Amino acid sequence: MTEITKNNSLEKVQEHLKAECFNKLFIGGHFVDPIDGQKMPTYYPATGEVFHELPKGNANDIGSAIDAAEAAWLDGAWANMPAAERGDLISRMAQGVEENIEALAAIEAADVGKPFRQAAMVLSGAASEGKYWGSLGAVLDAGQDTPVNSGGGMGGLPPAEWDVVYRRDPIGIVGLISAWNYPINVAFRKVAPALVAGNCAILKPSEIAGLSCMFLAKLAQDVGIPEGVFSVVTGDRETGAALVASPSVSMVSFTGSSLTGTKIMEASAPKLSQVALELGGKSAMVIFEDTDIERAVEATIKGCLTNGGQICTAHTRLIVQEGIKDHLLKELKNVLEKIPYCTDPITERERGDRAWEGGITDVLQPIVSASQHKKIVDFLNETKAAGIKIYTGGRVPDPADVKNSDGYFIQPTILTDVPRDSDAWQKEIFGPVLSVRSFSSEAEAITEANSTAFGLASTVMSSDPAKAMRVANRIRAGAVFATSTGEGLLAEHPAVSRGGFGCSGVGRELGINGLHEYTELKSVNYSGFSIEEAKKISNHG
Ligand code: NAD
Repeated sequence: MTEITKNNSLEKVQEHLKAECFNKLFIGGHFVDPIDGQKMPTYYPATGEVFHELPKGNANDIGSAIDAAEAAWLDGAWANMPAAERGDLISRMAQGVEENIEALAAIEAADVGKPFRQAAMVLSGAASEGKYWGSLGAVLDAGQDTPVNSGGGMGGLPPAEWDVVYRRDPIGIVGLISAWNYPINVAFRKVAPALVAGNCAILKPSEIAGLSCMFLAKLAQDVGIPEGVFSVVTGDRETGAALVASPSVSMVSFTGSSLTGTKIMEASAPKLSQVALELGGKSAMVIFEDTDIERAVEATIKGCLTNGGQICTAHTRLIVQEGIKDHLLKELKNVLEKIPYCTDPITERERGDRAWEGGITDVLQPIVSASQHKKIVDFLNETKAAGIKIYTGGRVPDPADVKNSDGYFIQPTILTDVPRDSDAWQKEIFGPVLSVRSFSSEAEAITEANSTAFGLASTVMSSDPAKAMRVANRIRAGAVFATSTGEGLLAEHPAVSRGGFGCSGVGRELGINGLHEYTELKSVNYSGFSIEEAKKISNHG
């Protein structure tokens, strides 16, 4: 194999994309063309070039996937298989991700514009997470038929008249709709628990960057997931809407913007079907003046610029104590003005450790698409027009800084003294833009942190653990971090459940709670015979 270089990087990715799974829908266990034969282009964000066309499924293709899922659901073999066995298949899919990281990372680098080494690192996380989901199959089995302590004196209640056990049943046919920023991670985080729990699932990846998700179809076929249990239908928002609207879909698990989340909730309301929504954020980075300044700079940059600021938990609101505000801003500006742009993400492999000398945010990647780029440019123009101060950045870089590329680059930007009621403070920008406000007291810090409708994640930095904990405990977000160093910032662990408060979401993902989202809790009540007798005759004994 010839070495990948800046001159041949896209061609090398295109070689991988010749495989069937990147060119067909996967329905009923088979790779098929879309009924209408439509395709959609995908672009390299670093140059704006079209580098692949993928199949565009529509409502009819969704209909075929639903027919296949209904047949598999009615057959019952999948739902009645011990969860541990389903988990083994998922673990093997995860193994498949691990074995193909080199190709998948190159594909994600081309599709999303993220540096190859970062793509490889998070894909390795997706593989470990998949194995974790696989292992939860046995946990689900072990938790079935757990006796319920039904009263017997608690709160003055008499004992229940039944012997009761709890079971967790699969929900049925679930629609999985994913975002583009971490394609396989976001998608597999839905596919794996949905299937381990015994559901039949249809995945609709993002049309902006969903190529790597199509590989999950190949892995499902390779490991022998039964026909119809899992389908992948690529397409646009209308394809997603058709999936949500289907009366056969009993649950939608969605990761994307809060705006689309409301549409999905609305479309699910008439049929009272379930939703799990992982939505946007505007996370706070609260920094007290007793924090080491170098650590504060590194954490702020990592929190705000990872994946070019295109991460749901991006800490895009800096809330800094007055005493260090000017010093911190000056240091941040120095670093941001030095960060080079990543003009060929596919070949961006070698870096060191620190945020601006070689860490995860040592280069700034392009924005994922022309339309997302335009949104950010428009936002920055409106911000200037509204009189908000741009401390650094604030526009498209000079051509010389991005090697005259036509890619979708934006300067890393800091906005200062941002009014609390402005879009710059309230809205998710999904780009490298940091909005700053300051505080003097602990109470003010909490008020500032809680001053948006979002509540996904937030961090408090202080060298005083009691203060950091006190403030973190008062912040309304699904995940809060109290730290003196910023170490581990943005890292997730598969066993730790998280989700959003307020406009950041509904439900929890990851951990056992994340698996339970894909189940219905059922109480099974016995009388006239013992639980042991009942178990002997039930299928689930
Ligand atoms: P998006 O809402 O535009 O699209 C997400 C997905 O929804 C795509 O697959 C799209 O085709 C589909 N879609 C759009 N309209 C639809 C409709 N009416 N019915 C059904 N499906 C529809 O979001 P995006 O731009 O792809 O992703 C960025 C957003 O995702 C950001 O807001 C980010 O914060 C969020 N996100 C959240 C998490 C989390 O865990 N909370 C993780 C990653 C991304």
